[in-house]
Formats: sequence, C-alpha cells, structure tokens
Amino acid sequence: MKTIPLCVPYLSGFEAQYVQECLNSGWIATSGPFISRFEEAVANFTTSPYAVGVASGTAALHLALLVAGVAPEDEVLVPTLTFIAPVNCIHYARAHPVFMDIDPKTWQLDVKKVERFLREECFVEKGICFNRKTKRRVQAILVVHLLGLCAEIDALASLAKEFGLKLIEDAAEGLGVRYKEKHVGTFGDVGALSFNANKLVTAGSGGMVLTKDKRMAERVRYLSTQAKDEPHEFFHSDIGFNYRLTNIHAALGLAQMEEVEQRINKKRAIASFYDEVLKDIANVTRMSPIPNCFATYWLYTFLLSNMESRKPLLQALYQEGILARSLFHPVHQLPLYREAQNYQMEHACGIYERGICLPSSLSLNNEELTRVAKVLKQFLKKPHHLHADKMSAVQTVQVVGKETFNNVK
Ligand SMILES: *Cc1c(COP(=O)(O)O)cnc(C)c1O
Repeated sequence: MKTIPLCVPYLSGFEAQYVQECLNSGWIATSGPFISRFEEAVANFTTSPYAVGVASGTAALHLALLVAGVAPEDEVLVPTLTFIAPVNCIHYARAHPVFMDIDPKTWQLDVKKVERFLREECFVEKGICFNRKTKRRVQAILVVHLLGLCAEIDALASLAKEFGLKLIEDAAEGLGVRYKEKHVGTFGDVGALSFNANKLVTAGSGGMVLTKDKRMAERVRYLSTQAKDEPHEFFHSDIGFNYRLTNIHAALGLAQMEEVEQRINKKRAIASFYDEVLKDIANVTRMSPIPNCFATYWLYTFLLSNMESRKPLLQALYQEGILARSLFHPVHQLPLYREAQNYQMEHACGIYERGICLPSSLSLNNEELTRVAKVLKQFLKKPHHLHADKMSAVQTVQVVGKETFNNVK
C-alpha cells in the first residue's frame, strides 16, 4: 500500500530545464536572471506593483513587519489559529503579539472582534493607536489568509485605516486567492508569500514580499542583502539579513508559476471531490469561503462535530497509509506565548480540536482520492465516533438505525 502524503511538491513544467540552465550558466547563487523573472511572474500574476524575492515565507514576513514600521515594544494583532511563523516574526521584530479569535463560520481572523478590541480596548492619540491595558502602541494588524481561503480583508483594511494601523497580509497559503477579483496579499500595505515545499507553487524554498510602495520594496531588498549602503564599501547603517533567494530556487519557482492556473484548477478539483464526499455526511462542516472569495483550497480541511473523533479518525486514516493531520494548534495556548495578551477567545480552540486536513497534493490521482473517501465514509457514517462522553443517551439510541445517524445534529 502506497502512502498518500499530506501535501508534497509536484513538478510538471520546465523545472528541470530551468535548473539545468542555472548549472550550465554558473548562476547558482543569489544573483542571476531567474530571480527577476520569477519576481516579475509573481508581480504580474498578483498584479502587485512590486514583488521582492527572499529565501522563505518566514523571511518575507519578518521583513514585511520591519518595513511596516513594527518596532520593539509595539503590538501586532494576529489570529491565534495559524501556522506559527507569522507570530514568531512578531517576536523577531521584538514586538508583542495580541492574539485574536477566529470567526466560527469562515475559520479566518474574526474581524468583528478586531473591531471591538480596537474600539473598546484601544484609544487613538495624535493618530497613534494604543492598547489601554498595556499602554503599548498597536502598530499593525497581521492577518493570515488560512488554507487557501480569505479573511474579510475589505473590512480589515478600513479598520486599519480608521485606527492608523498598518495592514500586513500573510498570504503564504493564499497565492491565487482573490477577493472581489483582487489578489490577497495586495490589499494591505505589505504582503508575504511562501514558496516552500507544500505550498501551491514551490521554489523548494522561497518567499516574496508584495507591496505597492516603491520605498518599502527597496527597503526589503536592502534589508534582505545585509543592508549594504554601498555595495563595495561594507558600510551598514542598519541591521540587515541574508534573506536572499537563489537563482536555482527562482528557476524552480518560475517554472511552477508558469502553470499556476492549472495548479489552482487542480486544487479546486480536489476540493470539489472532497466536498462531494462530505456533503452527504451531516455531522461535518466543510470549508466555506466568504462571498466574493475565489478560493484555491490550498489544504482541504473540514470540521468534525466533536473533538473526540479527531484522533481516532486520524488513526483510521494513518492505518490506510493516508497522512491527514490536525489544524494548527492555537498559538496563544502554546507555553511559548503564554504571556501574550489574547482577546475574547471562544472559537479558535474548538475549531482546532475538530479540524482535519486532508491530503491535497497536486499529484493526487483518482485512485488515491477514492482511497481517502472510502476511509472517511466508513468512519463518519458509523456511529462509533459519536461515542463521546458529551453525546447524550438519546442520541446514542438514535444512531442505532443505520443511516439515521446522519440526521443527528
Ligand atoms: C508556510 C507558511 C509560512 C512560512 O513560509 P516558509 O516559506 O515555510 O517560511 C508562513 N505563514 C503561513 C500561514 C504559512 O502557511
């Protein structure tokens, strides 16, 4: 039985040819023609005026925070349900995260709570927003577009404007995701993309900073190349980083960008397949993009009706060689970030505890998808996974009839 991985790179274009060109030409390091070609391809696709390539999505986020003016002791609002990288980047900038909850319907940053937090817990003085409790400056909202869907970015952009905050978008999982036809990552002051192994487009490793602000773009380039004031004089007036992208990575990324539309179509086809499987099963919640969102379903995820089923279902899938996994652990619960403020958490933990991410590699074929579907149906249509303590005796009686289970709410 062949293992079905969660989400692995898929090579289908000119990757080998382009990498061979790097080797033949000797441009194997941090300069070379593929870097600007890759940057242009991403800028054109996302219609971002500037796109600056860097070594990873994490590097892109770190620099995005710095060029958005996030300074030591500032605060940045960030969703708690996210891959940890954006939160760590706040720490790298020596600022403080303030964790925000997730909307139970969209699974994205809860914009209403962000608004409530800003109106009730913050005040604006001379155009600067302060947290009443900590007295620290709130400098930015760092929104994460999760799983190939999008957050309510319009509403966030107007809030950011009203409160004088920078809006930073982590669009690492959102390449190709559009809201009202506009690409995520291009709504805020600055956005970050990732091209790591499991993303929609991979460069092996890589990231990009998107912005419409020329000065920010130049500053990203400057900081990513050790902040050299003069290329030959070794004079530095800032702490820089070696965050550059290599020509080889860019060659891979460019080859994949050339096929980005096909890649998105495939992701959407995988999502339709899983949707079809799950729509007949009443006790699960499927992904639901907000209106006007064109989703790419980077990692297909659904929610169980109860948290007790998560581990047994993952186990059942593993037994069949299917590497599904849980959602991200809410970051505010990690001991690492225990000290940070969090605001009115109600939904993020529940969503994490009920979430299952299914294999979503672009290489998935029908036979593999059918294997996943079979395990899901077997497990979810059987009453056993409802034998959780929380379930009442009444429901246990109801589930005895074969299909009645599906109607149990
Ligand atoms: C993948 C990812 C990143 C980090 O990207 P790397 O290229 O792995 O550094 C950041 N944020 C989110 C939400 C991600 O999914």
